[in-house]
Amino acid sequence: MANMIQKNASDLDAKFRYEITSKVGAKSLLKCIQCGVCSSGCTVTEYVDMQPHRVVASCLLGLREEVLSSQAIWTCSLCHRCTERCPKNVDYSFILALLRNLSVNEGRIPKEYSGTVVTIYDNGFVVPYTGGLKDNIDRRRNRMSLPQIIPPELDEIRYIIEATGLADIAKKKKEGD
Ligand code: SF4
Ligand code: SF4
Repeated sequence: MANMIQKNASDLDAKFRYEITSKVGAKSLLKCIQCGVCSSGCTVTEYVDMQPHRVVASCLLGLREEVLSSQAIWTCSLCHRCTERCPKNVDYSFILALLRNLSVNEGRIPKEYSGTVVTIYDNGFVVPYTGGLKDNIDRRRNRMSLPQIIPPELDEIRYIIEATGLADIAKKKKEGD
């Protein structure tokens, strides 16, 4: 059974739903009928602390803190199955991306994500392509007759990470850990 959340009405954020709908427009969560189809087909439903239909309900109820601090918004694999199956055309995966942005704006970002940003900033790759790891990767690719990896333009990658503010967020997170 899901954990019960008890809150006073005065602790609810009545504007939260509008904060979301003002950004997602026609993909509005307001059309949700709580049928649960999104959750029944979700590819990570067993691993989240709040299933998709509960996240939508929580947004509608104004449970801002619970939604933005949930791991559900980060565990989603963005496979878009919920969006494809929703009978009311609620674009949950799009809403979820927005919830991640709201969460990041408040400095809440899992260290796995901020760590990945740092790795990409340093190397241009999600996985470091240097030293012994690089030798291993190259050896295996040679064995499979795959072409050599062309290193990305690091300056361009760093420019994007800095211009979007991602660098500051990742740095702050690192300092706070
Ligand atoms: S499938 Fe759509 S209508 Fe049904 S609970 Fe999920 S978001 Fe709401
Ligand atoms: S997009 Fe996310 S929430 Fe939707 S079905 Fe896929 S994993 Fe589940």
